[in-house]
Amino acid sequence: MKNYIIILFLFLLSLTSVYSQQTRSNKLSKICIDPGHGGDKPGARGSRSLEKDINLAVGIKLGELIKEHLKDVEVIYTRKTDIDVALIKRSQIASKNKADLFISIHCNASPSRDAFGTETFAMGLTKSKENIEVAKKENADILSEANYQETYDGFDPNSPESSIFFSLYQNAYMEQSLSFADKIQKQFTSHTGLYNRGVKQAGFLVLFKTPMPAILTEIGFISNHREETYLISQKGQYEIAASIFRAICEYKIYKEGVKFIVPSIESLVPKSAIKADEELKQIEIEKQLLAQAKERERKNKEEERDSINSENTTNQKDLIYRVQFYTSPEKIDINHSKFKDFENIWTYQDKDLWKYTSGEFDDYSNALALQKDIKKKGYKDAFVVIFYNDSRITLDQARKIENQR
Ligand SMILES: [Zn+2]
Repeated sequence: MKNYIIILFLFLLSLTSVYSQQTRSNKLSKICIDPGHGGDKPGARGSRSLEKDINLAVGIKLGELIKEHLKDVEVIYTRKTDIDVALIKRSQIASKNKADLFISIHCNASPSRDAFGTETFAMGLTKSKENIEVAKKENADILSEANYQETYDGFDPNSPESSIFFSLYQNAYMEQSLSFADKIQKQFTSHTGLYNRGVKQAGFLVLFKTPMPAILTEIGFISNHREETYLISQKGQYEIAASIFRAICEYKIYKEGVKFIVPSIESLVPKSAIKADEELKQIEIEKQLLAQAKERERKNKEEERDSINSENTTNQKDLIYRVQFYTSPEKIDINHSKFKDFENIWTYQDKDLWKYTSGEFDDYSNALALQKDIKKKGYKDAFVVIFYNDSRITLDQARKIENQR
């Protein structure tokens, strides 16, 4: 029974829409621009930007183009700054001001970073899961509005049955909305280089009670790196705004039966926008170069440090072969004439005796060769002694250490 009453109510509502259409003139003299989200409702998040900011930037640019080139058209905004406006308030602003056209600007997002392209929606029913997903995301802002169930007649964007809510939707402006949506998509295709995902329909709350031709355009995927770069660039924002503007011109010509020359895209995108992007790109490149140089410097320093460390290890000569040729109970100066025929004299104390060595080698064979020479000099008992970190070790121990390297 309750459902029946709702259906009857919606039916009556649709009749009032038809009535208001008949009383509306064919003029396009007031356009309501609705930059999606705002304030504490950022919409979709890109890696470098928020949807609400792009929507606003494009919306403002679109408004400026209309004011400059269509003097007989008045522009109103649902928001001109970074503020939160309830979805129902947005359609109320449009209907209170008796706008003739409602344009809601949004950016798409997808868990798949590969999703790309533009699409423009009119209010309507859909069975397409993809379209329902887009509407669900755009309707989700109401969840943080106080008393949203009351405000939106019990509508729950998370309920699988939520599309039934729109089932009796009859819009006298459906045809005009679709026609305008088609014009936008064609302009996007010609002037933005973004892929055309087409004209679609789904249940958007912001379009539901907007008693005028109304569309919601998704101007690209903020989740796609390449498209996000385009969406945050001045050139991209101007090209998108100019495309929508050209669609408005075509729609005005079609609706009013007037004739005028639609400004070219080149005349609508200011040269300063392209220059600003180039300057920004240069700054970006310089930043990258600086970061690369810093990284190189850091790596060089690291390598330098490593090589100093490895030099230190070789300098340490923790394993040293010497030839011991002389022993004395008293310490003798190594510069004594007794040692004048020996190189690299070194002495160490073992118990009560001072022992004298010659040579300093990294390997056993060189030490053996010196031992031979020293024996020839008459020191028949000369033999190789090995030190590891200044402690005497055996040949076996030295071999083990060498094998571990
Ligand atoms: Zn959005």
